[in-house]
Amino acid sequence: MSLQEIISRVHKAEATAGRAEGAVQLIAVSKRQPDARVAEVLAQGHRVFGENQVQEAAGKWPAFRAQYDGVEVHLLGPLQTNKARQAMELFDVIHSLDRPKLAKTLARLRDELGQCPKLFIQINTGEEPQKAGVLPQDADTFIAECRALELPVIGVMCIPPVDEEPALHFALLAKIAARNGLDGVSMGMSGDFERAVAQGATHVRVGSAIFGERAS
Ligand SMILES: *Cc1c(COP(=O)(O)O)cnc(C)c1O
Repeated sequence: MSLQEIISRVHKAEATAGRAEGAVQLIAVSKRQPDARVAEVLAQGHRVFGENQVQEAAGKWPAFRAQYDGVEVHLLGPLQTNKARQAMELFDVIHSLDRPKLAKTLARLRDELGQCPKLFIQINTGEEPQKAGVLPQDADTFIAECRALELPVIGVMCIPPVDEEPALHFALLAKIAARNGLDGVSMGMSGDFERAVAQGATHVRVGSAIFGERAS
């Protein structure tokens, strides 16, 4: 599918949900995609991208940023504290803040660097042991902890279990955002972004539907 088709499907979903056009930001997830495909999407005017790994993004985005104005890159994958400094220098937004140790590291580096990417707190809505994210019952406390550190938390993010209907997870995430007064809700991928828009997503993360299948 083309970028334009995905954009129009997002707009249609916004209209159906009675939301303003442009209420939802489309993050084009470029992880493990050939540079030529990413360049095509940049050439079509898209500027907001998502990556899963610090290392991969470091090898790709400095050159694209030098070539195209207004690029915004979001980190979607887990962040180790020893990569936090590099991540803060590379990314405009980090979606995977999920533990006190990382929050403290980001706060310390923010003081040192004088800047900090905008942050989403990842919630493990499916309570999957192998998955990153704070448990739903710990979300409010952790959000408060991040706010006490004066971190620029703008929202919450989830990746629902692959084998479950996402609607319950989307509803739970939207509820956690609302009760904590957070505007940002990062949810919805290639297979379910329209449903996520219907349930209040402000950021959808779409990879394969835009770029095609990834290299494994
Ligand atoms: C890879 C990835 C996506 C995009 O997945 P698609 O199914 O290709 O749209 C979205 N969010 C996260 C966190 C990802 O890792």
